[in-house]
Amino acid sequence: MKITIDQERLSSEIEDLAAFSDADPPAVTRIVFTPTDLKARAWIKSRCKDAGLVVKYDAIGNAFARWVGSDPDASVVGTGSHIDAIPNAGKYDGVVGVLGGLEAIRALQRAGFRPRHSIELLIFTAEEPTRFGIGCLGSRMLSGTLAPDAARQLTDNDGVSAEVARKNAGQAGELEQVRLPLSYYKAFVELHIEQGPILERERKPLGVVEKIAAPASLRVLVEGAGGHAGGVLMPDRRDALCAAAELILALEDAARSSGAIDTVATVGICDVFPGAVNSIPARVRLSVDIRDTNLERRDRVIKTFEEVCRATSAKRRVEIRSELVNADAPAESGPAIVAALRKACEKHSFPFLTMTSRAYHDSLFISRIAPIAMLFIPCRNGYSHRPDEYAAPEDIARGALVLAETLAMLAE
Ligand SMILES: [Zn+2]
Repeated sequence: MKITIDQERLSSEIEDLAAFSDADPPAVTRIVFTPTDLKARAWIKSRCKDAGLVVKYDAIGNAFARWVGSDPDASVVGTGSHIDAIPNAGKYDGVVGVLGGLEAIRALQRAGFRPRHSIELLIFTAEEPTRFGIGCLGSRMLSGTLAPDAARQLTDNDGVSAEVARKNAGQAGELEQVRLPLSYYKAFVELHIEQGPILERERKPLGVVEKIAAPASLRVLVEGAGGHAGGVLMPDRRDALCAAAELILALEDAARSSGAIDTVATVGICDVFPGAVNSIPARVRLSVDIRDTNLERRDRVIKTFEEVCRATSAKRRVEIRSELVNADAPAESGPAIVAALRKACEKHSFPFLTMTSRAYHDSLFISRIAPIAMLFIPCRNGYSHRPDEYAAPEDIARGALVLAETLAMLAE
């Protein structure tokens, strides 16, 4: 079987989809369930129908476009990604996996392939947390990681609930029906831009992802006592920022000494109150982000951090409250899918790198219900989530080709 990707058509479809945007080109803004997003969804649906795929939506708006296999009851081979884009983003994040997945299916059709297992293109709802404050809304619900009741509580900044937004977008049905059974997928493989610089630096056109790191995030509030920067003497101080500084450095130390390069920890927000030059900081709010490919190691860093919070609170006589906002488990790729991806690369003599995904993706959540793997292609300078995000047409086509070969092996 000789599979060929229509690179020109794929490139022009990426441009067409980028035109559905609430930002001026080349920037793309496409927030879930906005009129722009709904128009983009309708456009993709018509492309899928042109390819003979059967398109369905679930109650949260995940789209399933199925190429029905010769054994329609067999478990499904899935591929896909997301098309929502954060404000002022680029054209490729998520889109490469959706349109590249569609082109992979069309390429298999042109090659005369007949799948035994159905092959399904999935377009996940709201991978980006922009509107409802939680990333991977669609895949969290598909995998049962986010309960329907919790999803109903979500609201956007204008007070519109996810429940109202999805219904206004035409997604009726019960959220209870979104979760997929464990037997649904035989395999799920997601094509995506790397969103990092490694492939470009190593001059490798493809990355086979074997692990996806997962974040845990904490909200920390340090409450001390304010006062005049001249009047309150040092022995009497309960400076919230000094306490916060100890926490930040202890967190860095915990990540550095974890024993693995994969452990990373970041304090990205430090809000100081009242924030005046001659006033002792009374209150500090910190955001903490801890990631690892190994759950135990990551949770050890969380535990160490929480112990430091208790010790610092006692030592500095400040109140420290730390709240775990989320703690998702990392994922390992399914060996059979990784083997298929490698075989596909080798068949075409494409060099590839074995990688870890340090950003998380919908595949992380699908890994709770199915074997998954990801295929990365390079993006210029590793840029992503910005208007100058760029992936070369030949790199995208190469990714779609390897994806097509892999889907064929898995769906046979
Ligand atoms: Zn993405």
